[in-house]
Order: sequence, then C-alpha cells, then structure tokens
Amino acid sequence: MAEDPRAEDPKNWEIETRSVRGGMARSPYGEISEALFLTQSFAYPSAEAADRRFSGEDPGFIYQRFGNPTTSIFEDRLALIEGAEQCRATASGMAAVQMALMGLVRAGDHIVAGRALFGSCRWILSNWMPRFGVETTYVDATDLDAWKNAVRPNTKAFLVESPANPLLEVTAIGAVAEIAHAAGAKLVVDNVFATPVFQKPLALGADVVVYSATKHIDGQGRVLGGAILGSQAVMDEAYKDMLRHTGPALSPFNAWVLMKGLETLELRVVRQAEGAAKLAEAIAASSKARSVLYPTRPDHPQAAVIANQMTGGGNVVAFDLGSREAAWRFLNALQIVDISNNLGDAKSMATHPCTTTHRSMSDAERAEIGLTEGWVRMSVGLEGVGDLTRDVCRALDAA
Ligand SMILES: *Cc1c(COP(=O)(O)O)cnc(C)c1O
Repeated sequence: MAEDPRAEDPKNWEIETRSVRGGMARSPYGEISEALFLTQSFAYPSAEAADRRFSGEDPGFIYQRFGNPTTSIFEDRLALIEGAEQCRATASGMAAVQMALMGLVRAGDHIVAGRALFGSCRWILSNWMPRFGVETTYVDATDLDAWKNAVRPNTKAFLVESPANPLLEVTAIGAVAEIAHAAGAKLVVDNVFATPVFQKPLALGADVVVYSATKHIDGQGRVLGGAILGSQAVMDEAYKDMLRHTGPALSPFNAWVLMKGLETLELRVVRQAEGAAKLAEAIAASSKARSVLYPTRPDHPQAAVIANQMTGGGNVVAFDLGSREAAWRFLNALQIVDISNNLGDAKSMATHPCTTTHRSMSDAERAEIGLTEGWVRMSVGLEGVGDLTRDVCRALDAA
C-alpha cells in the first residue's frame, strides 16, 4: 500500500475530514474511491517474509479473519471519528457486544449492567453468560448508588446503553466509569443511539465502546456490521487473540459499504437529529401524546446529564399514546413512515416496542423500565420534515 505522502496528522482534522479521508490507504493504482479487496489470504514474497509476517515483525496482512485492507480502512476511519486508538470490526452489532464482554470476563466473574438494554444484549447476559459461570446484576442505570451497591469483589465489567432503547434513558457515563474503575472493572458503552457524532464515551471515561454499524453507520439499510473501540492496551489485552481465533470478522464487502457510510455519517445524523427535534415538538403539541421523550428536550428526565455529555439528541423519538390500540391506530395510519423495527436508516420508521423489539421481556421487566403499551418509538430519516410532520400529525389524529 502506498503511504499517503501528506504530512497532515488526521487526528487533528475536523470530523467531516476524518469521515471522508480517515484511514485512507491507496493501492498502487491511486484509486479515489477505496478499493474492495475480496481476498481471504495474501502471498508473501519469500519464506523469510512469511516468517516475519507471522512473528509480527512485519505488520502486513495474513488472513481475512485477522484483518483485511478494506476492513482496515473502515476500522481506522471509525477509530479516528471516535477518537479511539484502535477499532476492530465485527460481523454484527451483537458480535461486537458479545465479544466486548467475553474479552473482559472469565468463569466466576460478575457483570453489572443497566437494565434497559437491547433485547439480545439482555439475552446474552441472562441466558448465555451464566453457562460460562458469569453472573449479571441489572441496575437502574440513572442511579449511581445502584451501580455502587451492585459491585462485588469479582465484578470485571459494567455494560450500559445510553441513550437506551426504547425510552432514551441517559446514563452519566463519566460517573459510572469512576465507579467501575474504583471496583477494578471496565466500562463498556453501547453508543448506538448517540452515534460517534453526538457522544464520545471514551473521552468521558469509558474503556470500551461498541456499535451496531447496521444502524446509522450504514444508514441506508443494507448490511450488518459492528465495531469494538478502545485504547491500544485494552484492545491488545482483551480482544486481539480472541477476535483472531474465534472468527467474528466483518466481511470486506460489508466493510466497504460501511466505510462509504462513514463518509456521510455526520451529514446524515445531524440532519436526522434536526428532523427528530422538530417532530418531537409537533408530537408534544398534540393532545394525543401523553409524553414525548427526546434527549435535547428540556423535559427529558436526564436533561442535565445530557447537556454535559451529548452534543445532539440523535434521531429517535419515543412517545406514549396511552394504549396499545391508540399506538396501533397511529402506526396503521402512517402513509410515508414505515412500520419497522430498525433505526438510523435514511427512511423513517416507527415501531410498537411492547409487541416487537421488547416482546420477549416479562411484564415486570417492562414495568421496571417504564415501557407500557402506549409507547411508540420512531427513527427519523432523511425525508422532508414537512412531509414527515404531515404524516405523523395525520396519524396522531387517527390515534
Ligand atoms: C441493533 C442494536 C444492537 C445489535 O446490532 P446488530 O447489528 O443488529 O447485531 C445492539 N445494541 C443496540 C443499542 C442496537 O440498537
């Protein structure tokens, strides 16, 4: 690979420049659009060179499960946007969460997690980790004393999603990181809802950040992907060997799609957040909505924490229409917005969490996170805000 001859340090670039040019590694052809290297393995010029590659003395590529030039551009670009020393890509967001936790614990260890979590993350903690002798305590993530009280001598990891799905509960990342570190544990933050554009958990004190790149990073509904980011020391110690040998690697094709997604990530999510804030206003003004949750609204329960750690509200709005019937009437009256459970897409979509994304939770678990039958979660896309407002207001009337 030809070295970029320019002397600029990409770490000093503005986010827009990092998004478009970060991690760029051109082949000898000098292509402008990053090359897609669909290759599993690599040829070495000599037996001596192969020896050096395997010993680590020569850092070149060996095998797609360990690394690939296209995947590397995606990883380096996302690391630059996040401000992380290293990023490793995974085949899905769930592979990232699972690996991020597995790399920190062993049999007999304990995890503390915020109780409002993406369904599959909760499944891993409740149903999978116990097979390997790892127990989890769930806490109200907004209650710092609850985190402190949940710590045990064998606690090795904290996991929190902030803002959390689906009711956008926000956790004070810096304060929770301090509690984790005092306990000798590492804090993993699932930063999907905030995106690297609006929240930087590592800068706030977290040790590891995970993404489902399936969401805003793709942003156009095409491929699955995930990422784990952290300091070089954490990535080497907790993840390097595990990722090589267990094989959750992202396909280079998907890495290429996601890397091109990064070029427009900031542009898209800033526009989506503007739309989401306006729609939250319109929904709050309707007599049909009992409450509306959006992170930058002054009536958000964690507004003070949000002002400290987020630079934008993201693209998800949640609102309570009082009953399942009203929520379903709302969804069925939408003419532009799709009924779908994904988020971060260019196309707006709305879902009824109780009967879709959160249906596997018990009534008691849903009650704990305040999720009742009337809640709708909407992911605001890139359509015209006038059209979206008309569609949503018409559906609210029908509710
Ligand atoms: C979607 C999502 C995941 C899982 O990601 P996949 O790419 O679907 O595997 C994890 N955490 C959060 C917060 C998500 O929204």
